[in-house]
Amino acid sequence: MNDDRTRVCWYTPESYGELTEGIREVLISAEEIRDRVFELGRAISTDYAGRNPILVGVLKGVVPFIADLLRAITIPVEIDFMAIASYSSEVRDRGMVRLEKDLSLSITGRHILFVEDIIDTGLTLNYLLRLLRARDPESLEVCVLLDKPQRRLIDIPLRYKGFDLPDRLVVGCGLDFRERYRNLPFVGLLKPEVFQNDIDDQGR
Ligand code: 5GP
Repeated sequence: MNDDRTRVCWYTPESYGELTEGIREVLISAEEIRDRVFELGRAISTDYAGRNPILVGVLKGVVPFIADLLRAITIPVEIDFMAIASYSSEVRDRGMVRLEKDLSLSITGRHILFVEDIIDTGLTLNYLLRLLRARDPESLEVCVLLDKPQRRLIDIPLRYKGFDLPDRLVVGCGLDFRERYRNLPFVGLLKPEVFQNDIDDQGR
């Protein structure tokens, strides 16, 4: 089957007009993301066969990745979400996170796969993993789409990983800049003037 129904997304990058105008460079294409998510789903389906895992994601950035990963997994699987408040970077740097929404499922005795869009310093993830570990899951592993290894402050074993990134702010595939760009199907860098316009807007 090789028609429009097999495409990763109904729209081409150009269709996102106003949003793509803010993008300086595409670092990871929609097709590369699709192929890698498919591979991750296949590996998870093999490794977790017969274990009925729960995918746990943190809102909102993880939404596109976890939705694609869920559909790429071919074994029975459950899904649940947490939400955390965004603290100032100063508070985050101390590894502090405030939970805004907890899981609705019990994870005690279950196989948990923690799904993240991006890992930077690792402080947020480390905090959340400690929280989940205290609930005695049978196993707890991490699957991350994007990793910035140069920025890591805490070493966290990543069982499944999509791509390494340089130490740059990226948007797309769930990642935002001031709540925009999450819907782009690729991962890219913003043009400097986007930051500049934002500073101008704030100063007004
Ligand atoms: P960490 O605690 O690992 O330093 O922070 C991870 C969080 O920082 C991610 O969940 C994400 O919200 C944010 N983050 C890190 N790098 C980027 C990036 O390049 N773009 C965006 N939009 N958010 C990022």
